[in-house]
Amino acid sequence: MADLDVSQNGPSLTLTHNQSALIFLGTGCSSAVPNAMCLIQPSDPPCRICSLALSLPPEKNPNYRCNTSLLIDYCQPDGSHHYILIDVGKTFREQVLRWFTHHRIPKVDSIILTHEHADAILGLDDIRAVQPFNAVNDIDPTPIYLSQHSMESISVKFPYLVQKKLKEGQEVRRVAQLDWKIIENHHEKPFVASGLRFIPLPVMHGEDYICLGFLFGENYRVAYISDVSRIPPSTEHVISINGAGQVDLLILDTLYKNGSHNTHFCFPQTLDAVKKLNPKRAMLIGMTHEFDHHKDNEFLLDWSKREGIPVQLAHDGLRIPVDL
Ligand SMILES: [Zn+2]
Ligand SMILES: [Zn+2]
Repeated sequence: MADLDVSQNGPSLTLTHNQSALIFLGTGCSSAVPNAMCLIQPSDPPCRICSLALSLPPEKNPNYRCNTSLLIDYCQPDGSHHYILIDVGKTFREQVLRWFTHHRIPKVDSIILTHEHADAILGLDDIRAVQPFNAVNDIDPTPIYLSQHSMESISVKFPYLVQKKLKEGQEVRRVAQLDWKIIENHHEKPFVASGLRFIPLPVMHGEDYICLGFLFGENYRVAYISDVSRIPPSTEHVISINGAGQVDLLILDTLYKNGSHNTHFCFPQTLDAVKKLNPKRAMLIGMTHEFDHHKDNEFLLDWSKREGIPVQLAHDGLRIPVDL
């Protein structure tokens, strides 16, 4: 199993320049880990997972989790690299400073949004930090793919990022330049971002809300579903061994260790879904401070042997080389 050596401090020396890779920029829940309350009002005894953040730097601590986000380093046949970012949450800037430097990611070529919740979009203002500087904003806008529902919500939250032209008398201010592209909530409406084809995977994120997952990769098929409480049959078919075919890697939401939640899978539902979909391999994301990276991955090793499907918790900074 490809795993980042989290003891490594400097930039990664193991970059494979002629291959695509998936880089987990964030693997935590909306409030992220450590949970602030565990540190400012510690329980007795204190929360072990969150306390680790006080003794270990984040890059050596796989239990330090920012908002879920994936960076696809897509190496095209001519050897050029395109960087596709899925979600831009509250912790985006921190993720750039930590992992773009570590993995030598120089830019973002396109952005895809799963939905419009805070942990998926509130870093959009900081996209300007990864765009070239130009005092009059005369730069190529970064394409950003999102649903109509997300577009409407972002128009209210970030009107200045959506506005096309300056109003009369309005001064130029340097803000992120984005080219908004609407995608459909339907697996039969694929789209192409930076040369890579994506199939939308609509899932329920609470029974009143549709969030998008994505299926991508022609040689190595990856299904990414970061926020889900129920996978409808039409989406299940697209990524299931009993439907359109087994995926190579399933990246799936898991919020709490036990029980259930109205808007997310928890560990029991996540493992049930993995068994049902039967991917060749699965990585879990979206965890709260209930998950202990090493301990729970040991449990998952046993589970994987029993069930015949390798499953592990992902961690921030994990880089998996893939042949997309
Ligand atoms: Zn905690
Ligand atoms: Zn959400």
